[in-house]
Parts: sequence; C-alpha cells; structure tokens
Amino acid sequence: MQKYGGTSVGDADRIRAVADHVARTKKQGDDVVVVVSAMGKTTDSLIRLADDVSKIQPGRELDMLLTAGERISMALLCMALAELGVKATSFTGSQAGIITDSTHTKARIIEIKGDRLKETIKEGSVPVVAGFQGVSLEKDVTTLGRGGSDTTAVALATALGAQACEIYTDVSGVFTADPRVEPNARKLHKISFEEMLEIAASGGKVLALRSVEFARRHKVALHVRSSFTWESGTWIVEEEKGMEEAIVSAVTHDTSEAKITVTKVPDRPGIAAGLFRALADEAINVDMIVQNTSRDGNTDISFTVPKADLDTAVKVAKQVIPTIGGTEVLADPDVARVSLVGAGMRTHPGVTARTFETLASHDINIEMISTSSIRISCMVRAGVVEEAVRALHEEFELS
Ligand code: ADP
Ligand code: ASP
Ligand code: MG
Repeated sequence: MQKYGGTSVGDADRIRAVADHVARTKKQGDDVVVVVSAMGKTTDSLIRLADDVSKIQPGRELDMLLTAGERISMALLCMALAELGVKATSFTGSQAGIITDSTHTKARIIEIKGDRLKETIKEGSVPVVAGFQGVSLEKDVTTLGRGGSDTTAVALATALGAQACEIYTDVSGVFTADPRVEPNARKLHKISFEEMLEIAASGGKVLALRSVEFARRHKVALHVRSSFTWESGTWIVEEEKGMEEAIVSAVTHDTSEAKITVTKVPDRPGIAAGLFRALADEAINVDMIVQNTSRDGNTDISFTVPKADLDTAVKVAKQVIPTIGGTEVLADPDVARVSLVGAGMRTHPGVTARTFETLASHDINIEMISTSSIRISCMVRAGVVEEAVRALHEEFELS
C-alpha cells in the first residue's frame, strides 16, 4: 500500500514522479495499491470557496464538494501511469467499497468490500483509490475528517492484507518536533504505536489519529517516508518489552482548537453531564476540560473543541444554559497547545516540573493543563506556541 499526500501530488511534475515510483515498485514484482490525497491545498481552497458562497453548508453537500479534490489526483495519476506503460484504474471511495456511517465530514469506516480492488490487482492493474472518502449506508458520499487519506490507506491495507503501508509525504519521517517550527528536529527511525497515537492526538499531523488507531488495532506495519528523497523514513512499531524508552520522544503543537468557557454554572452533580452530553450529541470532540473550584456554589467550566466546531459548540452551550445554569458562554480561538510525548515519562518523575519551569523562564503563561501517562499538554496563547516548542525541544535535548 502506498499513500501519497497533497504536496506529493501537488503538480504535474510531482504526479509524474509518483507514477515513476509506483511503476518501479510494480516492476520489482510487488502488487501495489495506491491511495492519493487532493493536489496541494485543494481541500483548503474548496472549503474557502464554500465559505464564500454560503454560511449554510449541509454536511452532505460539503462532502460532495470536498471529495472532488481526490478525484482529480486519482485520474491524473492513472494517466501518468498509462504513459509509463503501467495499467492503472482509478476508484472513488464508494467504488472501492469503503462503507462508512453517515456522520458527514467525519465519517467512520464500518466495512470495506475489497472485492473490486482484488479483481483489479488480479488483472494486473494498479488500483488508484481516492483517499479521505467513502459512502454511507444511505448511499451518500462521505469524508473521513481532515487528513483522512491516511485512514483510507491503513484501512485498505488491512482489508487487502498488504505487507506494509507506506505513507509518502513532504518530510522524511516522524520528527522530534514539526520540522517547520523547529529546524533542529531530528528524524526518529522507529517509534511505538503508543507514542505515535499521542503525537497524532496532540497535533503532530504527519499521521491522522484514526489511521494510527486503525494500524495499531490491526497490526499494520506503517512506514512514514518522503516522496521527494525516497529515503527510508520512520517505522511505527509495536512496543518492544525491555526497549530503552526515551523520557521525551517528541514535542508537538496544535493550533486547531479553541477554548470555550461557561461562567458561573452551579457546582452540583449533573451539570457537566448535561453540558457534555449536549456536545456529544452534536458529535463534537471535547479535549481539555478545566473546572475551577467553587467558592459561592458556582464555578466556571472551560474546555477545548476543534476550531471548526466552535460555532456549533457555542450554540449548543448557550442552548443548555437555561437548563444547567450559568451566565455566559465565552469563545476564545486564540489559544494553542504544546505537548511533550514520551513513554519514559512513566518511570521518570520531574518531567512536569521541568516543563513548567521551562515555560516560566520564557514568560509563557499556562492556561490549561492535561496529562496522560506518557503525555503532558499545556494550553498557551497561540502567539507563543512556537517559542514554547523550541524551548522544550532544547530543554529535553531532542535535537
Ligand atoms: P500529507 O499531505 O502528505 O498528508 P501533512 O501536511 O498532512 O502531509 O503532514 C506532513 C506535515 O506534518 C509536515 O510537512 C510537517 O510540517 C507536519 N508535522 C507536524 N509534526 C510533525 C512531526 N513530529 N514530524 C514530522 N512532520 C510533522
Ligand atoms: N485532502 C484531505 C485533507 O486535506 C485528506 C488528506 O489529505 O488526507 O484533509
Ligand atoms: Mg496528511
């Protein structure tokens, strides 16, 4: 399985370079299935276009629009392969048999009917599948959430029993920090699924979170590598017992979330339940949550949601205020999260203190904190998050 991201198929030259690599793989005697993303920033442009046209964007129509991007890449790649004398057939998600639920713009894969792709392979043709899309049980086109082509690739790799799933992108692997923010970031040759999950969940968008979850569950060997240099990249592997674990493996950051505060809600059982049930019913993923201690029986609840869901989340929160209590709903999109991930944190106390000290020495205020056994996340002002990444990268000697 080979998946090519947006930059990797960004223009005609890039598409020809990818075709060349696919052709070479095929000529070496391997069967290959290709998943492509939309060219360059096509998906972003389509979203902007929709914003320019209307405030009302039914999920079904948004998905219909966004899936167009991947269709362009798949058809062009097949043409480039034809020129190299390689038979190739393009498939939309629906044609490839990727069946999802009907949660438009973030659908989940329910089932994959791989027959058509298997037949294509048997006929000696290379299936080229549009990433990021599927079809619901109601036969509507769906998308799998931003970055969803990674998930398509891993899911197909599982369904077809692929030997490996190669994720070709514009960096040469998974780094100790986003190399665009920290030029001294170092490429990791190997990383555990557990750490990769935390990296993906905390903003290291080199792999979509769902794709890592899927790969871990189905034991798919994942290899993240460059479609520009073709060098060996990062292998995502199962945790090996007795493996020496780095205290900190990577620093990540995420600017895709916004903070919402509901002020002065009564401090009694059922209030948080009422608020977060209403958000869950709108399929909004809540991440960090902070509730202050109450003094006069009232408390503020702050939480973060994806920026894309901010308007809906504010609306939902305002709707439940009459039932749960509370005075105001405040939205703050100007926040960002910096996180440290490392399996060795479990056995090395003091990482939290060092993290806070480092941020303090840069005069960076921490607004929210959350932790897992192998991650520490701090919410800070968006304007200082890159400085925070570099400071922590240096403090934990990751370069
Ligand atoms: P694609 O279009 O190939 O899917 P993405 O833009 O989704 O590519 O993901 C690759 C990008 O992820 C890189 O260009 C890099 O800026 C970013 N990134 C963030 N964190 C990391 C990290 N820890 N290691 C490598 N890349 C990272
Ligand atoms: N084109 C989609 C996006 O930009 C899916 C992907 O690239 O993985 O999110
Ligand atoms: Mg991606």
